[in-house]
Amino acid sequence: MYKTGILLSIFLIFGLTECVFAEEDFTMRQREQMVDQQIERRGILDKKVLDAMRRVQRHLFVPPELHDTAYEDYPLPIGYGQTISQPYIVAYMTETALLKAGDKVLEIGTGSGYQAAILAEIVDEVYSIEIVQGLAETAEERLKGLGYENIYVRCGDGYKGWPEKAPFDAIIVTAAPDAIPQELVHQLKVGGRMIIPIGSIYQELYRITRTEGGTKKETLLPVRFVPMVHGDE
Ligand code: SAH
Repeated sequence: MYKTGILLSIFLIFGLTECVFAEEDFTMRQREQMVDQQIERRGILDKKVLDAMRRVQRHLFVPPELHDTAYEDYPLPIGYGQTISQPYIVAYMTETALLKAGDKVLEIGTGSGYQAAILAEIVDEVYSIEIVQGLAETAEERLKGLGYENIYVRCGDGYKGWPEKAPFDAIIVTAAPDAIPQELVHQLKVGGRMIIPIGSIYQELYRITRTEGGTKKETLLPVRFVPMVHGDE
């Protein structure tokens, strides 16, 4: 009787471990497919970006009932009326920011923390600001749980940026303001890049590069982001 108990426990433990491995394998294959079909095929070639998209477990950034759809080709709700962007857009913004190891990056709109995790796979330090406290707290816990020690999350108004940590090599804005926030431009290094959607009903994604004398503005593609809201004061 006692022996059977031990044997049963051993089988149970092996069974469970196998289950966990099988699931990891399955989501790994889902990520491979996502990168092949939605990202590489559409022209994203930066190996650092592709590798980061293969590594970060996107399903852990969406509510459990959406795990099955986490690797599909569209944005998903993350609560508080906010969304996690379509995987291709995350990859596109990351590639267009021309990042390299050693960079210090600011993200506006932490949301689920997924974009921050992708950035943290590539650069040295990621600072991310989220205006909704519940989202900021959940994202911070999630990122800590996943072992990221180079991501700093703060709850606050992204229009103000993070002046104590400026200047940044790149700023990624994942909510859409009506116009370019000048305070954020000031927090870019000379040569630094800001990737930002601008507009309300019709939005376009821009890359703003800070130059010695001012800025260079490039139009990238039409997009659809949630609005970048203004803080209380
Ligand atoms: N990058 C996120 C998705 C962001 S959705 C991810 O990877 O999951 C846009 C986020 O911007 C929302 O969470 C919204 O609350 C936040 N946001 C909107 N206005 C903001 C502001 N002024 N400052 C900081 N965050 C803001």
